[in-house]
Formats: sequence, C-alpha cells, structure tokens
Amino acid sequence: MKVKYDVLVVGAGPAGSAAAIKCAENGLSTLLIEKGELGRHKPCAGMLPPVATYTLDDLGLSLPDSVLSEPHELKVFYVPPSGRRNGGELRNYHLFNLDRDLFDRWLVEKAVEKGVNLQTNTTLLNLEQSSRLEAAVKTEGSIRGVKADYVIGADGVHSKVRRCLDAHTQDLLTVIQEYWCGEGEFEDCFYTILNEEITPTYGYVLEKKGKLLIGTAAEDPRQSAQSLEALKVWLKKEFNFKPNKLVKREVGFLPYGKCFIGCGKIMLVGDAAGLCNRFSGEGIRFALESGLAAAESICEAERSGIEAFKAYMQRIQPLIDLVEKTSHLIKQGDDRWREEFVATELKRSNLW
Ligand SMILES: Cc1cc2nc3c(=O)[nH]c(=O)nc-3n(C[C@H](O)[C@H](O)[C@H](O)COP(=O)(O)OP(=O)(O)OC[C@H]3O[C@@H](n4cnc5c(N)ncnc54)[C@H](O)[C@@H]3O)c2cc1C
Repeated sequence: MKVKYDVLVVGAGPAGSAAAIKCAENGLSTLLIEKGELGRHKPCAGMLPPVATYTLDDLGLSLPDSVLSEPHELKVFYVPPSGRRNGGELRNYHLFNLDRDLFDRWLVEKAVEKGVNLQTNTTLLNLEQSSRLEAAVKTEGSIRGVKADYVIGADGVHSKVRRCLDAHTQDLLTVIQEYWCGEGEFEDCFYTILNEEITPTYGYVLEKKGKLLIGTAAEDPRQSAQSLEALKVWLKKEFNFKPNKLVKREVGFLPYGKCFIGCGKIMLVGDAAGLCNRFSGEGIRFALESGLAAAESICEAERSGIEAFKAYMQRIQPLIDLVEKTSHLIKQGDDRWREEFVATELKRSNLW
C-alpha cells in the first residue's frame, strides 16, 4: 500500500468528499480516510439550499433525485414566537430534502470515480508536522504511517486533526431530533420555529418519507431535551399535531464556537473548522464550499507557488464572516427581535 500522498483528507462527509474530488481532478494523489463504513449514518435534517448546487456544479456534479427524500423539495415556513398565524412561507424559495446517508455515499462514490484512494474503517490517530506531514492511521487493529504534503481535516465537530493542532476545542450545540408517525396541519414545508420559550436557538419540523421529523438545538444537552418536549406540546396547540408512534430519536452536535481553519499545510474544513450557521443549523453547504476552497487553494499553490494556506484564508473569509454574523444574531436576539426578523424576511421574500 502506498504511504506517500500529495493530499491526505480525513473524514468522508460532504466536506472531505468535495475536497478529495477537486484534488484528484487536478491530478493530485489523494487518500481519503473515513473511520466509519461506506454509507455511514449521520444524524441530520438533510435540508440543502439551492445555492449548494453551484458548488456541486464546480465539482462537475448535479444533484440526482436518487439522493432525495420524499417530498423532494420543501418550502421554508417561518413561525415567530406569536405563532403560526403571524408566520408564513418564503416565496419563490425551496430547500432540497436530502436523504443524508445516500447523499454522502453518492459523493464518496464520485470521489472514487475521480481516482481518490478511499479507505473506510480507517481512523486518524495522530498527526505530526516535521519537514513533511506524518499521520498515524488505524485500520482494523493495525496502525501504519502515512506521509502527505497537505492534510485536509474534514473530520467533523470532534475533529482529531483540530486537536492535533492544539486548537481550542469547539463549543457545541446539542441537536435532538425525533421521527414520528403522526398527523398535523403540516404542508410540504420546512417549519423553522423561533420562540425563546421553547428554545434559545431554533426548532424545526419537516416531512421525510412519510414521517414527521421534529428537532431542537440548545447549548446545554438537558435544555435541548426539554426544548424538544416543549416544542411537541406547542405543536399540538399550533398545528394540531397528533403524535402516534415514535420511530427513532437521534442526538447530534453542531459547532458553536469561533471558526478556526488550521495552519501551515493543514487546512480544516466544514464542521471541523466550525463552519456552520448556528441560526439555522445549516452546515452541508458550508462543508461543500470549504472543502472545495481548500482543494482549490492547494491546486493553486501547486501551480503558482503561492502559499496554499494564504489562498485558503482569502477564499474562506466571506464564509467565516457569514457564520460569525449569524452566530452574533442568535446570541443577541430576544423574542421581539425574532418577531421582527420573521416579519422582515416574509416581506423581503415578497419582493423576490
Ligand atoms: C441533528 C442535526 C441536523 C442537521 N441538519 C442539517 C440540515 O438540515 N442542513 C444542513 O445543511 N446541515 C445540517 N446539520 C449540520 C450538518 O450535518 C453538518 O454541518 C455537516 O455534516 C458537516 O459536514 P462535514 O463533512 O464537515 O462533517 P461530517 O458530515 O460530520 O463528516 C465528518 C466525517 O469524518 C469522519 N471522522 C471523524 N473522525 C475521524 C477520524 N479520526 N478519522 C477518520 N475519519 C473521521 C466521521 O466518521 C464523518 O464521516 C445538522 C446537524 C445535526 C447534528
């Protein structure tokens, strides 16, 4: 087995696969390691904004129907603290309703088609920087060394690559979501619930393959669980929600601290870098964009001799600004602000 690569990508989520695809396409020898199986499960609501299709275009891909859940598209419905009657749908806008596991698997398979060497059930244990980057990886009990000119850390909220850089650990939001068989006055919408009495962040309801998916996020895991209970009670009142049978309950995490994108020849992307919209929990789009940006920066460095990290910093700054701005919003806003926010967004969407 080869032990030296141009690029080692750690983690085969959307960030890692996007990065690996672009590196391989540009002729860089690329190893993509993933600690889970091919098609590993990721707890996620699977909402993808249309803007992400431009990033897929840049990767030479278009979103196939086969990775979407029923219903394939959902409108966005904002519900302010005062309730459904003062909320509404954004006009001329929709989100794709991904089957997240199928989407991630499809992207990894595209990476393999482009010539990426994928090794699943392979975990990064350690990373050292000397004249070259050296990683220790473990596959089914055996540990070996891998050398690379660049490492892209796409290993999610608990990133080992980030920890090897001695970076501050990330603050995390705990997201709890439940799949229910049940009924209610729900349309084909992604309902974003903004109400401090329920949750300090956001709650959501959507339909996925005939089930209702209901979730909330909060900094404190206990608060997240309480918020979910409060949300279900509120949904009974506001949407005539009649729960029938709980099918599945999942817990996941979102990065919530300051963004950190690595240093030298190690670049962090996606959740590992803290690139997630804390106001909506949206991270897939940022994962794709940052993975692509890191890979393009390395390719540019190889072509022109410019420092890859500098190029990455320039490319990623607008995303960091967006993430930090939304984070600021969520910390500052009270329910009056939420009420105004929804009214303004709905008015604005009427102009589109
Ligand atoms: C409950 C929930 C709902 C969400 N809903 C949405 C939504 O609707 N829309 C949206 O845009 N975002 C949503 N998000 C956020 C979104 O899931 C993340 O932002 C996105 O997955 C980030 O992609 P990534 O590639 O950076 O990381 P991940 O998708 O987490 O992938 C990281 C990969 O790295 C692997 N890995 C970890 N450590 C190692 C290691 N040491 N060695 C090798 N491999 C390793 C993991 O197994 C994993 O496959 C949600 C998150 C949660 C928790």
